[in-house]
Amino acid sequence: MVRLNVAVCRIGLLLFLSAIAASAIAENSVQRMYVLNCGESRTNDVSMWSPGDDVGKSRDFSDNCYLIRHGKDLMLWDTGMSDAIADKPEGVTAAGGLLTLWVRRTLASQLRELGVAPTDITHIALSHFHADHSGNANLFTAAKLYIQGAEYDAAFGSEPSKFGFAPANYENLRANPVVKLNGDHDVFDDGSVVILSTPGHTPGHQSLLVRLPRRGAVVLSGDMVHFQENWTNRRVPARNFDREQSARTMERIAAFLAENHAQLWINHDKAQSDAIPHAPGHVE
Ligand SMILES: [Zn+2]
Repeated sequence: MVRLNVAVCRIGLLLFLSAIAASAIAENSVQRMYVLNCGESRTNDVSMWSPGDDVGKSRDFSDNCYLIRHGKDLMLWDTGMSDAIADKPEGVTAAGGLLTLWVRRTLASQLRELGVAPTDITHIALSHFHADHSGNANLFTAAKLYIQGAEYDAAFGSEPSKFGFAPANYENLRANPVVKLNGDHDVFDDGSVVILSTPGHTPGHQSLLVRLPRRGAVVLSGDMVHFQENWTNRRVPARNFDREQSARTMERIAAFLAENHAQLWINHDKAQSDAIPHAPGHVE
C-alpha cells in the first residue's frame, strides 16, 4: 500500500513537472519562429561586398524570411526573392550578371505547408526594400506594415530606382495600414520583438531583435552585414547607400549584442544559415 502510494505520488509529480514544461512558453510572448528558405544566390565576384578582398572569388548566399508567432499574431520579417523565379529552375541573372538567383521553394508553398494563408499575417516588416527582401511583399496586403520613414520615402517616392528598388514587387503595400518609424520600435510593447534602426545599406534599413523563449535573444541582420567575415572585419559593401553610416551602424549593433547577450543571425551567410533549422521545423 505504501509502495503503491509512492508510485502514485511519482506519477503525479511527473505529470506536474511535464505540465510545467509544456506551459513554460508564455502564450502572450514570442512562442516560436519559422526560418523559411526565400531564395539562394551565387555571385561570381564577392569583392563587391568586401571591397579589395576576395576579388574575383565566387560565393553562395542564403536568403531567409522569418515568421514569428506571438500570441494570436503572426509577424513576417522579409519576403525574399519573387516566387516567380521558381519558374526558372536554371536561375535568373541579376545585377548585370554579378548574381544568379534561384527560388527552389516558393514562400507561398512554405506558408501553405504551415497552414498559414498570406492574409493570416497580421504584422509585416522588411529589413529594406531591395528585391531579394521585398520580392513577395504584394501577397501580404492585410498586415500592418512597420517601416522607417526614410525607407518609405525612398521606396514610395518618385525615384525608387535611385535606391535600387523595384516597386512592382511591393506596390500593393501602399494600401496597407502603416506605422512609420524614426528609430527603434517595440512591436508588441513587451520587449520580445523590437525593430532596430540600422541605416546605411539603404536609407531606412532596419534589423530585428527577437527574444526566443529557449534560445534567447537573436538579432536578424537584414543586410546590415552580409556574411561573417564582413562582420568580423567590419567591412562595408561598395554599393551601400551611405558607407560611413553603415560603419556607425555596425558599431552600434556590436554594442547592442554585447549588452543584450544576443546572437547575430546573418541572413545571407549560407554556412550559418544552414546550421539553423528551417521550416517546416521551427526554433524556440
Ligand atoms: Zn540589400
